Amino acid sequence: MDRSTHRVVIVGGGTAGWLAACSLAAKQPSLSVTLVEAPDIPTIGVGEGTWPTMRQTLATIGISEAEFLRECDAAFKQGSRFDGWVDGTLGDSYLHPFTAPPSGEMSELLAAWQVGDHDVPFAAAMTPQHAICSRHLAPRQRAMPDYAGALNYGYHLDAGKFAALLMRHATERLGVTLIADEVIGVISTPEGDIEALELKGREALEGDLFIDCSGQAAILIGGHFGIDWIDHSNVSFNDRALAVQVPVKAGSPVASQTIGTAHEAGWLWDIGLPTRRGIGCVYSARFISDERAEQILFDHVRTHVPGADLSTLRPRKLAFKTGHRAQFWHRNCLAIGLSAGFIEPLEASAIVLIELSLRALTDNFPKRRSAMDIIGARFNSLFHYRWARILEFLKLHYVLSRREDPYWRAQRAPETLPPQLAENLTLWQDQPPSSWDLPYVDEMFPAASQQYVLYGMGFAPPPSETGPSPQALARLAEVSQRARALTSSLPANRDYFTAAEAQARAHASPREFAKP
Ligand SMILES: Cc1cc2nc3c(=O)[nH]c(=O)nc-3n(C[C@H](O)[C@H](O)[C@H](O)COP(=O)(O)OP(=O)(O)OC[C@H]3O[C@@H](n4cnc5c(N)ncnc54)[C@H](O)[C@@H]3O)c2cc1C
Repeated sequence: MDRSTHRVVIVGGGTAGWLAACSLAAKQPSLSVTLVEAPDIPTIGVGEGTWPTMRQTLATIGISEAEFLRECDAAFKQGSRFDGWVDGTLGDSYLHPFTAPPSGEMSELLAAWQVGDHDVPFAAAMTPQHAICSRHLAPRQRAMPDYAGALNYGYHLDAGKFAALLMRHATERLGVTLIADEVIGVISTPEGDIEALELKGREALEGDLFIDCSGQAAILIGGHFGIDWIDHSNVSFNDRALAVQVPVKAGSPVASQTIGTAHEAGWLWDIGLPTRRGIGCVYSARFISDERAEQILFDHVRTHVPGADLSTLRPRKLAFKTGHRAQFWHRNCLAIGLSAGFIEPLEASAIVLIELSLRALTDNFPKRRSAMDIIGARFNSLFHYRWARILEFLKLHYVLSRREDPYWRAQRAPETLPPQLAENLTLWQDQPPSSWDLPYVDEMFPAASQQYVLYGMGFAPPPSETGPSPQALARLAEVSQRARALTSSLPANRDYFTAAEAQARAHASPREFAKP
């Protein structure tokens, strides 16, 4: 029977589950959306860096930017800075900003960059965002409309507070039903679809489409359907993280970018929020012990957060598998979030993949069961493409390094390179990355991202046959002019949040601010 799709059941109330609930309920208001979450099974509780896509996601689901920033202790993220990745010497640092280089032929822009001041990093020549980030400035003025910016930006946020905001929004404003219970089994139709979920504390929950957002447990796509896991740990070695939250002094600057600092067997993230910093040590258990990773983490906090009280820090240990499912959509079940896969947190590719999965679902929502197989097959092919590109882009950060620790040498071993990355690296000796290499309009890491990493890490640009064109020189001159104008007009991140908080207090009822 070609059943129509009315009832969507989501399993899991982490970032993936609540984003799925909000997106579906906002874009398909006629659907019945139910989210079931086991109160005793915690969410992963990390995931603090987003992509600029989050602005459109929040606007679409109907959350204002001021509410989001306030409720999630959020700050602006304008890119990622990589310290110590090339050779670990003093001053080894480059930025991968969210704003693309000026329009025009990259080979000409590279030629113009090379005739200029040799000390100007590639990102500083190509976008004003480099200057803005180095001064801890915000990408927008408070008077601008929601989600508009002078420069492209995403967010840093508190993952627990974000899931809580999405839950309130989904249940109180969008009509999503929350069931706090554990899924303990699956009832199938004779054809093999999921008919209903067995719950620990109440009757079975029926649905037409089931979204598996149960995190690493992957109870439907893995546990029930047994869809294979494609392991990529031979390419991407990191499989552990230790995370801490460090309070910051009132009035201290809030960084505009995630800072990723390389260490002997991995890297550390440092994410600044208005009230604290989230710091974590990512590493490969094949190369260092948990104890050594903890030492590296504490040394970093000691040097980078002056006055931090290390005795109060209790690092949370996270283990993760590297890879993804062989199929993400199978029969009437779609896996989104960690249940679909995960490749280390470098460049924060997980939440954006959740958003892209939800856009693919809501833009092509299968109205009938027969449409699910067609849409599901297309979804699987698109997301295989996306995972392959993520794997290659993350590996790019390692293969260009000249660090000599055993971990870093192993990262460069030719047999660990994905074949398409090896091909691109050969081509990029003669021509810069372009949309010929990454042809989709919504590539997660388009040519601009590859260029920022490549030339940020000192990869030699192809020799110019003609020298810089006057147009390319003019474009780079405009970048530095715009950098000067923006540095004198954009507010510091800290000032932006202080003013926003003062305004919220002025408009809040006394009762609201009496809450703990
Ligand atoms: C160290 C680390 C750092 C990261 N940093 C970033 C980052 O900066 N940016 C980024 O984009 N991503 C990051 N990620 C990934 C990000 O954390 C996740 O993609 C995101 O949080 C989504 O998780 P999730 O909702 O899929 O799973 P979870 O948060 O694990 O949620 C799973 C949910 O399923 C429920 N559940 C499980 N079993 C059952 C059951 N039987 N019945 C009912 N409910 C059940 C649980 O109760 C929970 O609510 C990071 C990940 C790691 C490991």
